[in-house]
Amino acid sequence: MTPARKKAVKRALPAAPLLGAHVSAAGGVPEAPARAAAIGATAMQLFTKMGNRWAERECLDDECASFRERLSTTVVTATMAHDSYLINLASPDPVLRARSIESFTKELNRCRALGLDYLVSHPGNYMDEREAGIARNADAITEALEASPGSTLLCLETTAGSGTSLGATFEELAAIISLVDARYRDRLGICIDTCHVYSAGYDLVKDYDGVFARLDDAMGLSRLKVMHLNDSKTPFDSHRDRHELIAEGSLGEMPFRRIMNDARLVSVPKVIETPKLDDAIVTDTKMLDRLRGYIE
Ligand SMILES: [Zn+2]
Ligand SMILES: [Zn+2]
Repeated sequence: MTPARKKAVKRALPAAPLLGAHVSAAGGVPEAPARAAAIGATAMQLFTKMGNRWAERECLDDECASFRERLSTTVVTATMAHDSYLINLASPDPVLRARSIESFTKELNRCRALGLDYLVSHPGNYMDEREAGIARNADAITEALEASPGSTLLCLETTAGSGTSLGATFEELAAIISLVDARYRDRLGICIDTCHVYSAGYDLVKDYDGVFARLDDAMGLSRLKVMHLNDSKTPFDSHRDRHELIAEGSLGEMPFRRIMNDARLVSVPKVIETPKLDDAIVTDTKMLDRLRGYIE
């Protein structure tokens, strides 16, 4: 981090929690920082390529320089990419798994080139047998981290647990982490998505403290590096992944109020992935204001 940037971080700290949104990178990743700035964000997430396409790309030097330059004019201090939805590192199909590892390695390469702090990744679908899928997922992560050195932290995201998706329990994420080669384990963390964990059966509404106690038991709270703050359109334990506006879904206001005031989570960047309705800037600004308004 440059001295000027450090200064900016310091200035941003007292009044601003690490809070932001997934922003569009339409027109190229250098366009993203201005969109984060427009909603008053101090954290941001983006796709570094089309999330639903296999087509690969590299981040070229001038693109990276432009991204960093524009980022430095904002107060965004926590940056993350979300990996492509097509990647399945747990797949039993050797062709799909190899393609996934290659694509995932390129995700890590782009994060390094852009200087992003975190790569958030959904664990894969095991398809055949759960234990085998966990092992395949971990081995694939080892392979990718080996092929792509750097300081970007890989954060495995909690999933809603639909179909054969891995990662719907803290224990399963801990199992994947423990099976990654020890040399790379300090590059791993997790991302809790409030919508996903609630859908997966962690009751943030009725048992907030219990949920975090279970996380602490499974892997230690220090593995929690990023949070996705989303309300849910579906009921508790529904195993479905449908994001809703903050405090307007089945979670309601209370869990978000607790999160925004939880001293253990102050340094954890929090980004929303809520519906953007007709106007992303208007809606995301309203959501971030709402969350900041919970801080007591
Ligand atoms: Zn998420
Ligand atoms: Zn989701």
